[in-house]
Amino acid sequence: MSSHKNLLSELQREQLVQSIKEAEKGTRGEIRIHIEDKCKGHPLHRAHEVFMKLKMQETKERTGVIIYLAAKDRKFAIYGDKGIDEQVHDNFWETIKENAIAMFKKDQYFEGLSMSVVEVSKILRSYFPATGDNPDELSNEISFGDEA
Ligand code: CA
Repeated sequence: MSSHKNLLSELQREQLVQSIKEAEKGTRGEIRIHIEDKCKGHPLHRAHEVFMKLKMQETKERTGVIIYLAAKDRKFAIYGDKGIDEQVHDNFWETIKENAIAMFKKDQYFEGLSMSVVEVSKILRSYFPATGDNPDELSNEISFGDEA
């Protein structure tokens, strides 16, 4: 019963969607969260795979960022699109990742994901601050499971 489907309460899910909405107000970046149970390989590879399946590359400036969690395996990755890679180093998300994993190990899934959204948005705001035209290019809903 401890699958990704009941990892978060309905209220917590809604709060995460709201925090993504808030985060995106200040940046042209686009954030999504994907949660599943297990990840066979390297979480960054899987994050990239999900990123492509969700068509997250379809942003004007290639500023999509996926926050990926395989809950049972406690594997976690943050993957940013080309536009972000061109600005920052590969280990850019490392501190956020370490802090999030420490929270997941204490079963603080909601806290770890909330913190990640806030920290990722700080980075996005500094590199891609919102301008006049800042459409919501990708859904703010959390996606779940291996179907993605
Ligand atoms: Ca969005």
